[in-house]
Amino acid sequence: MQYISTRGKAPAKRFSEILLEGLAADGGLYVPEAYPIVSDEELTHMRSMSYPELAFAVLSKFVDDIPADDLKRIIDATYTKEVFGSRDIVPLKKLEDGLYLLDLSEGPTLAFKDIALQLLGRLFEYALSKTGDSLNILGATSGDTGSAAEYAMRGRSGVNVFMLSPWGRMSDFQRKQMYTLQDANIFNIAIRGAFDDCQDAVKAVNEDADFKRTYKLGAVNSINWARIAAQAVYYFKGYFAATSSNAEMVSFAVPSGNFGDVLAGYIAKRMGLPIARLLVATNENNVLDEFFKTGTYRPRPTSEVAVTSSPSMDISKASNFERYVFDLVRRDAARMAKLWGDLKTKGSFTISPEEFSRIAADGFASGSSTHADRLATITSLYETYGVLIDPHTADGVTTGQRLKGEEPLICLETALPAKFAATIKEAIGKEPEAPESFAKLLDLPERVEVMDADPQKIKDFIASHAPLT
Ligand SMILES: *Cc1c(COP(=O)(O)O)cnc(C)c1O
Repeated sequence: MQYISTRGKAPAKRFSEILLEGLAADGGLYVPEAYPIVSDEELTHMRSMSYPELAFAVLSKFVDDIPADDLKRIIDATYTKEVFGSRDIVPLKKLEDGLYLLDLSEGPTLAFKDIALQLLGRLFEYALSKTGDSLNILGATSGDTGSAAEYAMRGRSGVNVFMLSPWGRMSDFQRKQMYTLQDANIFNIAIRGAFDDCQDAVKAVNEDADFKRTYKLGAVNSINWARIAAQAVYYFKGYFAATSSNAEMVSFAVPSGNFGDVLAGYIAKRMGLPIARLLVATNENNVLDEFFKTGTYRPRPTSEVAVTSSPSMDISKASNFERYVFDLVRRDAARMAKLWGDLKTKGSFTISPEEFSRIAADGFASGSSTHADRLATITSLYETYGVLIDPHTADGVTTGQRLKGEEPLICLETALPAKFAATIKEAIGKEPEAPESFAKLLDLPERVEVMDADPQKIKDFIASHAPLT
């Protein structure tokens, strides 16, 4: 399997070559040259597989330059009951006939990002051990992504994580989850400032090309292809759990921010999984909803991003979106150059009517919801089914219920309510129960370095804690 860039000017590469990379050299994103197809017979065979077996069946179609035995061992070690709470890994919860929640949030940080990042941690360690290289992951987080990355990389050899977070601006849960990690390769840096200051500091450090090369800086951002591929697996799992024959179609409602999760669903559909529709759900930051309704893509300046009660979907631009647009324009590099040129000069682009008509054919539909919608949906599910959901999941369920058709609907549960206690309390009048794992964290000491958003101080810190090898 070769991977090609969405901008058409970077060399094709294999899976292992793009594993540790961010953007392609031409500024594009790598995608498979062609999507592997799963036959009806294969689907039937997959139906009875355990999660790790299914993950291997799907992922081995995208990963053909890691020996099968090694890949299998890595997958088996990742998707265990110990790490994800059950052998199902992603249990399907039935709310009523034709309406389901796919619980993706039973991993160590109680959000769906664990599913891909836990695998990525092991893949990184494996790839680095082959070359004898090391990697210093530098990132900024407002809470969720950073903790998932730290839990994925903790204790892995060859990898250090330097994670910047805004001092005093995360929930107790998020702070405890990150700062109590005692692993020698995890470094929490709390920045006196906001999330944007953290992100700007990461950018400034990366702009020092010498430093970046010398200290082997890397990232675990949402454009990483391995993350997308790992997420395609649970669409298969959810589909099989909700149906009894391959003749049945289902739709998925997906709380969306960077467009990684729902892109994985689109890939699964392209591979042949019988998905009717993919319902893209946004919150007040509705860049994607606007695109799917009008054909105009207009990312917002950071200053226009609303701070909402589903914070992991508060994005200015959807970093994975380019991968879908590439298919929408039939992989025409000149057309991509035109659209991304418009984006640069005008701040937006609009696709042609013909391109727009392909959106529905691809199964996409969209909606957005407000804080009030989230509260109403959380309350309604609690009262109707006795099920408590988190605010992100509530965005998905809100849009899902508005757009639901005849076919069964699977709403992705992307985080557990315990992470967002304040919003839950606002909705139902009481706080969600904290999981046992969190109670244990309360007594642990915090390990964190507090500093100003000064790129030089951050570089000095990295240099003194990640000695050159
Ligand atoms: C990251 C995240 C999302 C958005 O997923 P994307 O892949 O960025 O679209 C939704 N819900 C939760 C809880 C998240 O952490």
